[in-house]
Amino acid sequence: MELVQEKVPVQVDKRSTRVWIPKQVLFTPAALEEPWGQQIYERVESMDIPIQVLKHNRLVGLRGEDERETYRKSKSTLAVVTAPASAFKLQPIPPSADWQFHLAEGCPAHCQYCYLAGSLQGPPVIRTFANLPAILNSLPNYKNQGRVTTYEASCYTDPLGIEHLTGSLAETIQFFGEQEGMNLRWVSKYDQVDDLLDLPHHGHTQPRISINAEFVARRMEGGTASIQARLEAIRKLALPRAAGGGGYKVGLVIAPIMPVPDWEEQYTDLLDRLELALDFPCEITFELISHRFTPGSKALLQQWYPNTIIDFDENNRSAKYTKFGGKKYVYTPATMRMLRSFFQSELTRRFPEAPVLYWT
Ligand code: SF4
Repeated sequence: MELVQEKVPVQVDKRSTRVWIPKQVLFTPAALEEPWGQQIYERVESMDIPIQVLKHNRLVGLRGEDERETYRKSKSTLAVVTAPASAFKLQPIPPSADWQFHLAEGCPAHCQYCYLAGSLQGPPVIRTFANLPAILNSLPNYKNQGRVTTYEASCYTDPLGIEHLTGSLAETIQFFGEQEGMNLRWVSKYDQVDDLLDLPHHGHTQPRISINAEFVARRMEGGTASIQARLEAIRKLALPRAAGGGGYKVGLVIAPIMPVPDWEEQYTDLLDRLELALDFPCEITFELISHRFTPGSKALLQQWYPNTIIDFDENNRSAKYTKFGGKKYVYTPATMRMLRSFFQSELTRRFPEAPVLYWT
């Protein structure tokens, strides 16, 4: 069976907005030598969060008895570390941007389909980088001549989800604001954007907010802001400065798209509410990503979320091979066509000026 036909009403998530407060913050000695690491220390100390300064630069003590316990310990820990030398050698990240770079690795949310499962080594602790100025200063080395170069900052983290603890996203937006020919892109499932609205971004940053059907957000995206809060955040970011907004060109990432029960009604409700949130002239783009998993991510996610409601049955999927020989499971061509044509026609009708950057 590929599609579940059961009818359920769209239930709007009434969760109040929450910010992530780790149970502990670890600092490596090397991170504390960095001025940016010291400012994170001061922030965290002022929030009365327990701090531990490690004796060595290696993170230890995060493993539990099993994957679940390791997960629990790690996901409640922020580690302030220095990015290794490899962080200065950027990798391309099509179709999202020319290059990816990282302010942090790991994410405080609990999405049952998490894209990071299996991509990062070791316990899923949230590591933020204290040598941020060095990372930022290395980025112009990757600038193309003759066209704007785009840099994606959210491949391995949700940078807004930890911004209240680090300040690294605001610093990065300001850095890009001073650069010519370099644009920053980031995406989030959080909503605390108020401190980003007045930054001198000079149109060089495109914030995107990841949204989904209520069913997916409520049942599969633990620890994130509600969809309503995310829609309010995108509105604030996109509103002109004169109207109290951030004046950003914004984006919506609709992901991962799933044929959940009553999917058409669920996604129609989402797009209705998005139209209401963006009821003024603004520049927006869309990115559409259908759900997929690999054998490795499935195994890890089922350990982290043993009661997951995600359909990980390979029999309902088509196998695809990456150019490096890795296997991933995507929806069958018929399901893909059905979902894609719904979004194409709905987005063209509702947001005729907004390009869909890609469907995958
Ligand atoms: Fe994973 Fe993204 Fe969810 Fe964070 S917000 S848990 S990175 S899917």
